[in-house]
Amino acid sequence: MTTVLFDMDGVLLEGPRTDPQVYADAADAALAELNAEPTPAQRRDFRNHDVERIRTHCEELGIDPARFWKLKETHASSGTHDRLRSGERGIYEGVDAIRELSDRTTTGLVTNNRHETAQFVAEYVGIDFDIVRGREPTLEGYERRKPDPYYLEDALAELGVSDGLYVGDSPKDIVAGQAAGLETAFLRRSHNRGRECPPNATYELESVAEVLSVIDESVL
Ligand SMILES: [Mg+2]
Repeated sequence: MTTVLFDMDGVLLEGPRTDPQVYADAADAALAELNAEPTPAQRRDFRNHDVERIRTHCEELGIDPARFWKLKETHASSGTHDRLRSGERGIYEGVDAIRELSDRTTTGLVTNNRHETAQFVAEYVGIDFDIVRGREPTLEGYERRKPDPYYLEDALAELGVSDGLYVGDSPKDIVAGQAAGLETAFLRRSHNRGRECPPNATYELESVAEVLSVIDESVL
């Protein structure tokens, strides 16, 4: 039985990543909860993801960085889920193919996005993935994102398999997939139209539906 793992942003969820405003709002909410009063420059850094700067500012303001980070991640998740429920951020047409595939073979959702959001999305789109892996809401968890194969390897270990296919829309998906010992598929979307297909990708696909034909034709 073949294992097919999917990236989330740009594969299931429209657009390549979370809107930066979601993180800006999440940082503001976390800072308010901690009664912190950062300078405008510090706030700008808190709204972004530079882990070193965030650690430094937390120290300057007497905040526990782990606590700030977890709060920010939690608020970012609820902000993202609101945007999905309201339709502000859409789901790609064609994810039905993933649903169909998950009825036939082992499938997973492995993303750099937050684990809480990955679980929400799996449930929201109604796909019965065998494994769902997103980043942990810790600074260490953030640093294990792709191209690090950490979460892919974790998913494979949990499934008890060592080969399969990883489908993603970014060159770092191809790097991480290869490092985890998987075949890889670079999925074409409007936002990566101008990029060159990573030369070492096993497949270049125009839609998730094409994953079905790859699986039917190959003996992975
Ligand atoms: Mg992606």
